[in-house]
Amino acid sequence: MRWNNRARPLGCLLGVFIPQVFILMVCLRTPAEPQITTVPSPPATTSGAPESQTPVPPPAAPTPVILIDAAHGGTESGAVLGPDTLEKDVTLAFARRLRQDLMSRGLQVRLLRDSDTLLSTEQRAVIANVSRPSLYLCIHATSQGSGVRIYAAMLSGGSADRGPFVAWQTAQASSLSRSRSLQQQLTAAVQKTRFPVRSLLAPLQPLNSITAPAIAIEIAPASGEVSQLATADYQQMVSAVLANAIGGIRSRLETGQ
Ligand SMILES: [Zn+2]
Repeated sequence: MRWNNRARPLGCLLGVFIPQVFILMVCLRTPAEPQITTVPSPPATTSGAPESQTPVPPPAAPTPVILIDAAHGGTESGAVLGPDTLEKDVTLAFARRLRQDLMSRGLQVRLLRDSDTLLSTEQRAVIANVSRPSLYLCIHATSQGSGVRIYAAMLSGGSADRGPFVAWQTAQASSLSRSRSLQQQLTAAVQKTRFPVRSLLAPLQPLNSITAPAIAIEIAPASGEVSQLATADYQQMVSAVLANAIGGIRSRLETGQ
C-alpha cells in the first residue's frame, strides 16, 4: 500500500500566499480521508524473475462499433415489396434484428435511424462520419434476385492528395481498399453457409461519402416469394448469417487492418 496524497502539497503551497484559495483548494482537492491506493502484489512465481520482467498483458483492443443504417424512411418509402410491405419498414426491422445479433456477439452497435424518420443521403453521411464507426453498414431490401448482395463503393479517381480537405463525392477513397477487403471477407464467410450471396461494386450513396470502411447489404428473398422479406423467420435467419460473418472479422475491425 502507499498513500496517495499528491493534492496536499499543492493546497499547502497556495495556502502560503492566498489563504482564501487555500481553503477552497483543500475542499476541492483533499478528500476527507486519505485516499489509499492498493498496489496489487505480483503473482507468485517459481522462477524468481525480477518484477521488471513480469509479462504485462497488452491493453484490450477497443470493441468495434458497427453503425447500421436502415435505408429509406419517413416519406421516402423505398421499393414497394408487397401490398403492405414497404422497403423502409423491412430495412428498419432487419436493422434491429441485426443489432441484437451483433450485440449478443460482443460488438457495439448503433442504429443510424431507429424510427420511421426521413433522412437524406447527405445527412446519413454526416452522421456516419461524425460517429467514426469501425464499419458502416447500409441495409436495403429488394424483390429482385436471391439471398444477399454485398456492395462496396465504386469510385473513379478522387484519391488525389488534397491536404486536409476531402471531396464529398469521393470521401470513401481513403477507406475504399479496406471496405473492399471487408466486403470480400464477409462474402466468403456467407458463401460457407451456402446462403446465396453476391459481391458487387456500385456508385451507391451514401457509400461514396463515408470516410470509414463502408459496405451496403441488399436483402432479397431466398425462395422467390417476396413476402418472405417481411417474415420474422427469414429476417432472423439472414441476420444470424450476417452476424456470424461480421463476428468472424472482429479482429480486423479491432485493429483497423
Ligand atoms: Zn433501397
